[in-house]
Amino acid sequence: MTDLARFATDRGIRHVLFSFTDLFGVQRAKLVPVAAVQEVAAAGAGFAGFAAWLAMTPADPDVLGLPDTSSLMVLPWQRDVAWVATDLQVGGLPLEQSPRWVLKCQLERAVRLGYHFRTGVEAEFFLLQPGGAAISDGDDSQSKPCYDQLALMRQYPLIGGLLDGMGELGWGPYQADHEDANGQFELNWTYADALVTADRHAFFRVMAQAMAEQHGARVSFSPKPFASLTGNGAHLHHSLWNADGHNLFHDPRGPLGLSALAYKFLGGLLEHAPALCALTNPVAESYQRLGGLHTTSGSTWSPGWISYGGNNRTHMVRIPDDQRLELRLADGAANPYLLPAAVLAAGLDGIERNLDPGPREDANAYTDPPIGRARPLPGSVEEALEAFAADRVLRQALGEPFCQAYEQLRRQV
Ligand code: GLU
Ligand code: MG
Repeated sequence: MTDLARFATDRGIRHVLFSFTDLFGVQRAKLVPVAAVQEVAAAGAGFAGFAAWLAMTPADPDVLGLPDTSSLMVLPWQRDVAWVATDLQVGGLPLEQSPRWVLKCQLERAVRLGYHFRTGVEAEFFLLQPGGAAISDGDDSQSKPCYDQLALMRQYPLIGGLLDGMGELGWGPYQADHEDANGQFELNWTYADALVTADRHAFFRVMAQAMAEQHGARVSFSPKPFASLTGNGAHLHHSLWNADGHNLFHDPRGPLGLSALAYKFLGGLLEHAPALCALTNPVAESYQRLGGLHTTSGSTWSPGWISYGGNNRTHMVRIPDDQRLELRLADGAANPYLLPAAVLAAGLDGIERNLDPGPREDANAYTDPPIGRARPLPGSVEEALEAFAADRVLRQALGEPFCQAYEQLRRQV
């Protein structure tokens, strides 16, 4: 365990952000001066739970955030400040609805079964004008804007800075592009253990916004900011590995190079997809992305059916290569911790119950929808919440305290 105070002194850090992500994915923190870091690290940073989206009341005792120093990062845009994810406790016990805790429980369950879950996430976003709804670059107006080099390079001060920042943090960034909507971008960094990726995903959302503000722009991860443009996905690439570092999803003898284990996991994803949507597609706007039919670029690139394909982007799950599955369902409103937790819970059920994903769909689901062969995705957040309420297996895996807290908040806003 890294000594926070020593880390701070060695790196010339003046303050440390003790941070947590609430149920709606909002990142919250206390800024602690170095002189107080040791004390706060031992006692926990105190938060009033009701003041965040944690489904608590004003009468509840303080939530304490205890730092997990494996998550320590120095802010690339403010190098005298460090950030650490905290694990939330109340009365000496874990806060069971805390998203990071929910993910950790699922990861421990996987480890008990001999599996280590690795993920990579694609956090698409728009760059908008500060305080406005328009995209920040008025010249970014091609009808097919994907990979537009000029529009990408007009954002180079920000995008290049973000790539540098991720490099500095050791995330292994390897590409950035202009995405399929005007004003939309994506930066990719290397996959890692799911908790590491979740912390990075949470941090990335804040880093992108903070650095965009320095360049006079605003970031939006909303699932569908513009009806006529492609929305923001948060595709999750994932695989299970054993303790020796072998990818258990890979098997050269299996269809498309994936193992029987990977197909069972996939069976779990398809089985639980309607309920998963409550977590992967949590807001009303999520269903404008999923239900969207036409965009000026010609495609939404988002799924409408509970189906899977090979290297085919029109289905809910894509098999891009012989190493992993890509869940294309989730959007930018998904919580960085609950997204992998829910995917893992669904996949492990597929493994435990030997679920068969059925045959692969090779057609273009946009022009040739799998009617009669696959179920449609929920059409609204209400439908997804109903499916979540009815999915006993997923609920048991994620824990009732979490499920009830989450439902209470989602139904009240
Ligand atoms: N933006 C698309 C979505 O909403 C995904 C585009 C892509 O394949 O990168 O899922
Ligand atoms: Mg993309």
